[in-house]
Amino acid sequence: MRALMKPYAGPGLELRDIPEPTPDPGEVKIRVIRAGLCGTDLHIQDWDDWSASMLHPPMVIGHEFYGEIVEIGPGVTEGDGRDELHLGMRVSVEGHIVCGRCRNCRSGRRQMCIRTNSVGVNRDGAFADFVVVPAANVWAQSDLIDPDLGAVFDPLGNAVHTALQATLAGEDVLITGAGPIGIMAAAVARHAGARRVVVTDASPYRLTLATTVGVTRAVDIRTTSLAEVRRELGMVEGFDVAMEMSGSPAALVDIIDNCTHGANVALLGIPKGDFAIDWGKVITHMLTIRGVYGRKMFSTWYRMSFMLESSAELRDQVRSVITHRFAPEDWEEAFATARSGRCGKVIFEWSD
Ligand SMILES: [Zn+2]
Ligand SMILES: [Zn+2]
Repeated sequence: MRALMKPYAGPGLELRDIPEPTPDPGEVKIRVIRAGLCGTDLHIQDWDDWSASMLHPPMVIGHEFYGEIVEIGPGVTEGDGRDELHLGMRVSVEGHIVCGRCRNCRSGRRQMCIRTNSVGVNRDGAFADFVVVPAANVWAQSDLIDPDLGAVFDPLGNAVHTALQATLAGEDVLITGAGPIGIMAAAVARHAGARRVVVTDASPYRLTLATTVGVTRAVDIRTTSLAEVRRELGMVEGFDVAMEMSGSPAALVDIIDNCTHGANVALLGIPKGDFAIDWGKVITHMLTIRGVYGRKMFSTWYRMSFMLESSAELRDQVRSVITHRFAPEDWEEAFATARSGRCGKVIFEWSD
C-alpha cells in the first residue's frame, strides 16, 4: 500500500510502498478515504526537537482521517448494534490512545491521561491506504457526515472542546488565530449563541475565510487594534470569553488587555518558547486562564456530532475550512501549501 512516512531520523518524508497492516486483538483495520494535514505533520517533516523526542522511525504519519472499516481484529464486539462495529462502517477516529490505568484515566478524565500515545506520532498513522487503530478509538459516523466533514473531526474536536470551556450564549467572544481550528471555534461560538465573535489574525487570506462563518469582525491585527474594534462595537467592558488559537505571545497580551474582569481564557495555540505576560493584570482582572489539549473522550465527540446533526449551516461552515485537496502522490505540494498560510485545511484524497 502507499504510505507517507518518516523513513529515518532527520528532516523529510517519503511516499513508500509498504505491506498493509493487520489488526491485533482489540483493533480494527480502516481503509482511509480522506485525511487532513495538520501543523503536527509539518513539525514532523521538519524534524524539530519535539518530533525528534516523540517519533521512532520508520513511522507512517497522519492522524486526522475518515474511512471505512475493512477488517475487525480478534476480541472486538462485532454487530449492527448502536455501540458495535461492523465491516463497511464509515468512521472517524480519536487519535489519542490512552492507557486506561493512570489516575486520570480511572477517574474518567481520559483526555488528561499521563501516558497518551498518538496515531501518526507514536504508532503508524493514516497517511496511508490502510491504518489499524484500537476499536475503542473508533467513532461511527452517520450518513449526514460526508467524508470531508468526517476528516476534520479531530481539529473540530479541538475547537469544540476549547469553545465549550465557557458559557457562550449571550457573551462577547474573542478568538486570536484564524487557522482552521480558530474558524471552526468561531462557527461553534455563533452556533452556541454568542453575541459578538471577533477573530484576529495577520493573514488576509485567513481573515477572508473567517468572514464566511459569519463572524462579527475579522480583524487584521497588523493594521487595526482591538481597542478600536471594541469602540466601534460599543463594547465598553471587554470580551467575556477568549480563545487563543495562534501560539503568538502578542495575541495573549492582546487578550489580557481586552477582556473584562472575570473573563474565561482558554489557550490551545502552543507558543514556541517562554514569554512574559502582565500577571498583575491577570490577578487584578481575576482572569481564569486554562490550557486545553485534545478532546474529551468521548463527550466532545457526542457534542460535536449532535451540533452538526442539528444544523446544516454549521455543517457548511465547518466544511468551508477545507480549501485545498491533493492526491497522496502530490504530498510535497500539499505540505508546501499548508506551510504557506494561504490556505485553510488541506486534505488528502486517499480513496472514494
Ligand atoms: Zn492534528
Ligand atoms: Zn492513562
